[in-house]
Amino acid sequence: MQPSPKDLPLAGESPQELEEQMLQHRMSEIGRKLLVLSGKGGVGKSTVAANLAVSLAQTGKRVGLLDIDVHGPSIPQLLGLGAQQVRLVGEEILAVPVSDHLAVMSIGFLLPDGREPVIWRGPRKYGLIRQFLKDVRWGQLDYLVVDSPPGTGDEPLSVAQLVGPQAGAVIVTTPQQLAVADVRRCVAFCDAVSLPVIGIVENMSGFVCPACGEHTDLFQSGGGEALAGEMHVPFLGRIPFDPSIVIAGDAGRLPLGPEGQTPAARAFADVVGLIVAGKPSEPSEPSEKNGPR
Ligand code: ADP
Repeated sequence: MQPSPKDLPLAGESPQELEEQMLQHRMSEIGRKLLVLSGKGGVGKSTVAANLAVSLAQTGKRVGLLDIDVHGPSIPQLLGLGAQQVRLVGEEILAVPVSDHLAVMSIGFLLPDGREPVIWRGPRKYGLIRQFLKDVRWGQLDYLVVDSPPGTGDEPLSVAQLVGPQAGAVIVTTPQQLAVADVRRCVAFCDAVSLPVIGIVENMSGFVCPACGEHTDLFQSGGGEALAGEMHVPFLGRIPFDPSIVIAGDAGRLPLGPEGQTPAARAFADVVGLIVAGKPSEPSEPSEKNGPR
């Protein structure tokens, strides 16, 4: 049963209070919220968010993937959902089912033309993200994976303030020192908004030869892990550079089945294993509620 204004106590409450209650109710239906952040663009944050959501769903968890990148929503492209029409029921927006255990909602579905850059100031973005969190109907979820724009601006700040308890950050970086420097800002941001850091993922970390399986470091390696140690946050693992990720992303064919037995797919599964197992610094695991939504 979905929340609606009539399900909630009305006595003397203002529309703002009612909206707040609806938001809290909606968030209470979600076990854990994983906010995928990065210090800068191009490090593979959306790719990691999408693959984490897919890998979690493959373990039988009920997963929602929410893309709030107003300036460049890429989740619809990665999952081949570009022309998706949003369906409304009353004031609720229906999440788009992608598989038995995975549903998606992207701000890109609501933008007039996905190709036009959107210039919105902070308060408008906050309002949009708040409405999104309140109005998207997911049903009961074990995990909501949120793909935020890069950096530590309005969008991650809004989500961190709105999602409520059981939230944590997964920070994505590449191994170079230049990228790693941005991670410090991300960790500081999480501290400032009291968002626990679930851990750091080092993406595009080396290349595994498909023929012989040999691992070659393309850039410097280990920067993410070193920084995790230095900043006392968990390290979740390295995802190697995998050309099939680029090809699948460009074609909108993120592997949704168990065919993804590449080193990168195994690395994503390992990261998911650590997230599900939980770390002392993480929000605790919700009760098991497997099975279709
Ligand atoms: P961001 O969200 O950080 O801007 P994207 O997820 O859009 O980055 O990724 C940027 C580009 O890098 C995309 O073309 C994507 O396919 C590619 N990419 C991301 N991770 C990997 C990886 N592990 N191996 C190969 N290509 C990757």
